[in-house]
Amino acid sequence: MISLVGKEIATLLSNKIAKEVDHFKTSTGVTPTLAVVLVGDDPAGLTYVKSKGVAAVRLGFNHRTIHLPEATPEAELLALLEQLNSDGEVDGILVQLPLPTHIDELKVIQKIDPIKDVDGLHPLNMGLLLLGKPRLVPCTPLAILHLLDHYQIETRSKNVTIVGRSNIVGKPLAALLSQKGRDATVTLCHSQTKDLVEHIKRADILVAAIGVPHFIKGEMVKEGAVVIDVGINRVSDANQKRGYRLVGDVEWESVIKRASAITPVPGGVGPLTIAMLMKNTLLAASLHHSRRN
Ligand code: NAP
Repeated sequence: MISLVGKEIATLLSNKIAKEVDHFKTSTGVTPTLAVVLVGDDPAGLTYVKSKGVAAVRLGFNHRTIHLPEATPEAELLALLEQLNSDGEVDGILVQLPLPTHIDELKVIQKIDPIKDVDGLHPLNMGLLLLGKPRLVPCTPLAILHLLDHYQIETRSKNVTIVGRSNIVGKPLAALLSQKGRDATVTLCHSQTKDLVEHIKRADILVAAIGVPHFIKGEMVKEGAVVIDVGINRVSDANQKRGYRLVGDVEWESVIKRASAITPVPGGVGPLTIAMLMKNTLLAASLHHSRRN
């Protein structure tokens, strides 16, 4: 059984991106800038935003975090995005999701200039992805493709089951894997899927993006399957200083008995997702630069 250690690949990829950032700075005289907007004080959101800032600085980007109070009116957030869109120094914009319930997420996503949309969620970027012309693509699906490529895991003609149909993971990943060139046969499952376990059992490659700790058990998994665990869930743990530990959507102990390869949590898809955000920021900077010149 191989452990697909995203953390190590993320380090390799980050070193490569840092060199590309350096080259971009030298050739354009511009230091790419990522702006991250967080509304509210959700502890997971705060942690993610902090990690993104640290990664950006480490790789040579400029970085701004804009932290707004939970009660920020929707109009105020939209006005801020308008400002960031027209700010010539800002190349990439990311609004940390989920947003407080009084704010319409789709309105916010639609407000971001599509060439600064480093999360790849704007309808234009989603549309390009579906049309087979991906430009800025959501970071977690990109991370999963990078992981599969790194370990030379073939997707052609494989049965891939994805559990979870979110806009940020399941849907774009299904679109990417079913494109010509990737050639997987994709089954996209969700909470209303009938005979879910049958779909999971058929999977040569199983992706769990559910948000339920240890949902996938060993007996559900086909012998020799590749298992990608996207889940990051906090479960209480009095033995930890912070009072919790992170676990995936996959029950590691039982699934490793059947899988041929599996991503750990933490240290699997998560670190690579951040590296992909950096890759997208550099791409956004280059799109922004081309538009200016
Ligand atoms: P989400 O928006 O909450 O979507 C969860 C999906 O799982 C939905 O499609 C839901 O179905 C489905 N689901 C929930 N319960 C189910 C059940 N009992 N049976 C079958 N399907 C079920 O979550 P998300 O944003 O995609 O995140 C999923 C997990 O991945 C979370 O743990 C999150 O923290 C993690 N995550 C990790 C990364 C990373 O970088 N590693 C990035 C993003 C997210 P319905 O659509 O029918 O409700």
